[in-house]
This record gives sequence, C-alpha cells and structure tokens, in this order.
Amino acid sequence: MAGNFDPLTADLTQHQTALMTKQISAVELAKVFLHRAQAHTELNAFLHINEAATVAQASAADALISTLGSASRSPEIGHLQPLHGVPIGHKDIFVTRDWITTAGSKMLQNYASPFDATVVEKLGLGQAGMVTLGKLNCDEFAMGSSNENSAFGAVQNPWDKTRIPGGSSGGSAAAVAAGLVPCATGTDTGGSLRQPAAMCGITAIKPTYGRVSRYGMIAFASSLDQGGPMARSAKDCALLLNAMCGYDEKDSTSAQVAHEDYTAKICEVPADAKKPLAGLRVGIPLQFWGEKTVAALGENGLQATNGVLLACWNAVQQLQKLGATLVDVSLPRIGLSVPAYYVIAPAEASSNLSRFDGVRYGHRAKNYTDLASMISNTRAEGFGAEVQRRILTGTYVLCHGYYDAYYLQAQRVRRLIAQDFQAALQSCDVLAGPVAPTTAWKIGAKNNDPVAMYLEDIYTLGVSLAGLPALSAPCGFSDGMPVGLQLIANHYKEGNLLNVAHQYQTATDWHLRRPEGF
Ligand code: GLN
Repeated sequence: MAGNFDPLTADLTQHQTALMTKQISAVELAKVFLHRAQAHTELNAFLHINEAATVAQASAADALISTLGSASRSPEIGHLQPLHGVPIGHKDIFVTRDWITTAGSKMLQNYASPFDATVVEKLGLGQAGMVTLGKLNCDEFAMGSSNENSAFGAVQNPWDKTRIPGGSSGGSAAAVAAGLVPCATGTDTGGSLRQPAAMCGITAIKPTYGRVSRYGMIAFASSLDQGGPMARSAKDCALLLNAMCGYDEKDSTSAQVAHEDYTAKICEVPADAKKPLAGLRVGIPLQFWGEKTVAALGENGLQATNGVLLACWNAVQQLQKLGATLVDVSLPRIGLSVPAYYVIAPAEASSNLSRFDGVRYGHRAKNYTDLASMISNTRAEGFGAEVQRRILTGTYVLCHGYYDAYYLQAQRVRRLIAQDFQAALQSCDVLAGPVAPTTAWKIGAKNNDPVAMYLEDIYTLGVSLAGLPALSAPCGFSDGMPVGLQLIANHYKEGNLLNVAHQYQTATDWHLRRPEGF
C-alpha cells in the first residue's frame, strides 16, 4: 500500500482513485475491511463472511483494472464504472449465491440462494464492479426497529455498545459507522434505512417506491418494501443509488421512470456559491416539531426529545444559511400512520410469509405426525416472537368479518396520509423533520413492549405509506448519541434530496464524526 490513502476516512471516489492509481489493490482493500470485521465481532454486525468468495471477486476486479491500465483505457475496452473494485456489505435480506441468506431468521438458517438479487447483481462484478464483503445482520424478515429481533442476536451500536443500532438494517448501519465496510445496502419498509442511519450517525436514502428492484429482496410488505444505499455521505449514496436503481422486469412494481444522474445532480448549484440552496423551500410540518407534536399525534405518537429537536432545528437553520426559505406546512393525519402501517404491513407479511411452510426450502420441524402438524411445528419453531405476532395480527385483520373494519380502513387512511403529503409538497420542495423521536436506546429497554417500539416509527411510517423518497443525514448529537435529520421529497425527487444533503454536508462535518475506538 502506498500513498496517503486511508480506507477508513476515504469516500468512495477516493477508494476508486486509490485502486486506479495502484495505491492499493482490490484484494488488499477487501482484506482491510474483512480484518476489521473479524476484529470487531462483538458488534455482531456481520452474519456471513466468505473470504474466498470476496477474494475471488476482488481478484477479478483487479484483473480488469490491470487490463484497462495496460490498454491505457482504450475506447474498445471501455472505462471502469465509478465504484469498480470498491467493497460493500449487503443486508442479509438480499439473496446472494455465494453467501448464505437468512433474513435474520432461523427459518432460513442455512439457505443458499441459487441466484443473486437484482440489487446485488447491479452492484456486483460485470455491472458496477463492487466487491461483496459479506452479509449484514438485520431484524428477522426486516420486522423491527432495534435489530433485537434477529434470530442471530442483537447488534451493538458502535457509539455506545450498550445501545441498539436501530433497525431493521441495524447491521448495515453499525458496520458503516464502525468502518467495517465503506458502504452497505439496506431496505426500508417503514423506516429501516433511515432510522438505523440516524441512530448510527451515517447517511441513507430510501428511494421512491419502485425505484429500486425488489427482485431477490426477501419480501416483508410488498407495497412498501424498498432497497437503498447506506454510506457516510450523500455523495457516496448518490454514486450507489445510480448503480442500484432502474427498471427491472422481474419486479412487477418496478417504476418505468427514467432516473437522473444523481452524482451530476448533487453538483448542481446556483451561481452564488455561498447560497447553494437559494430558492429551496423547506417545509416544516407542524406535527413534527415541538409541543404541538403531542397534541397532533395523540396516543399514536411519541414526542421527539428536546435534544433530538434541537439538533434537527440547528440543521434546518443551516439550510437557511445556505439560502433555503422555510414554509409552515401541516400533515394533519400523520398520527394515524402508526395504526395504519401496523395493520397494512402485518397483513402483507402474513401473506408473504405463508411460503415458509417447510415444504420446499428452509427449516422443517423434525417432529410431526401429518402435513398440518409439519407446517405448524415448522412455523412455530422457525419464526421468532415478533414475526409470529405480525403474522397473527395480519391474518386477523384480513379475515372475513374484520377485513373492512381494519384492512380496508387502513388502506383508506393510507390514501389520506398520502394526500396530506401531496398538499404539503405543493408549497415546498422538501419537508424537514427528525427521523426518530429519540436517539438509540439501551439494548433490552423496549423488548417487552411492542407498542412502545412501534411508536418509535412515527416519523418514518407516513413517508413509506405515501411511497415517497426520504433521506437521513447526521445532524448532531444528543447525550452523546447521533441524531438524524429527515428530508422528504415528492416521488422520484431523490436527486433533490441528495443535493440538499450534499450542500449541508459540504458546510458541516457531522457525517465525518466517528465513534471512539473505531
Ligand atoms: N420498524 C418498522 C417495522 O418494524 C419498519 C421496518 C422496516 O422498515 N423494515 O415494521
């Protein structure tokens, strides 16, 4: 290794420059991170490492770099993709051929997928050219807000190892924050990219529903699930999203809407460099801020702590300094997003998870007397408590006699919440608020109270129900733990979100802070 390249502080572009200028090889770079992962197993961020598969990918990446180098990048051979050779970790909800895929569940403990998810394929060799470091821990079937629902144990938050990293993409967030991976994939059904990013002090974007293919992403709630990138900065997320997104005929709800070049988009600034956000209207939903939150959200909400609100408000003021103007807006029915989501998501989960019956793949109970007992014993053994709770809730709200009262009603509420967002976005370009009402709590603190856990999702669920894109960017600390600012935009406006966050991160350094000891 030569030069002054430091894999722990470098952004993804610097990673590739180091590879192209031969300061480090892709194999060496991957090994730096694998060794870090092995040195920090206490975090429990990784579920599966397959060093031979990683080295094979990295060697192939190196071979291409050498070919292009010796051919002096002839046009016939083409240029390398901007992430070629750069390592990445995948949430263990994306299926991978060369790594076991468990979705954090005993049900799939030894599941070897015959194919790679579209996202994994797009980011991997032959396309973006990234090198897979392994699979990252998550809540079982992505159900949870703390990563404690993983059948393979809780993940520690690198900022304070007695605390949760957030969930469900908790392993991904902790691994990025601790520098065990330079970037990772995650998924977001009701906040699982944004909330762990906020709690671990990193950046993540949940794209518009349909923007990133769901093919090979183990399904939780199909009308909400969306994959996305997690990294240190908006600039890195822009590069990753460019490589991940796009229409996929294998996903029936994949959007056939052209996407912008997000790296070009983040560089778009008005002539006045001091006011890069001039003309930007930032909506301040009254229900997201301060005392009014309690009244507006009632028993369905949880007021953000003062520390969280203060950090977020400082960030909003920074946006103003960069030229943005503030607009008061209202999301009058946002408080209903918790009950609506916790009807719709379990309903879809109960249907999606019916495939885990012990017949074709996954866990099968050893003791049974007939087909029915084989299926029920398999499911009772294979699924953890929270997943069983969701399946029961979902089956209940879908059953004849309750369907209209719960499921249909929740769908109506979903529509109203989406309308509220559209009305609010008439008068502004982005909405700003916290990602989560609190910072990361102690491991075990909310385990016995599922409703307390659900209420933590109040700031993220509405966005998911409305299918909108939203970004989480580090914006300070409260009691020593990271706080995330949430920026929300209209459908397919990921570029705007990344641009605003990039301008913010150019003016501040919260995203560069690192936990001690990492
Ligand atoms: N915390 C939410 C839940 O438990 C969201 C999870 C997610 O986005 N995957 O359902």
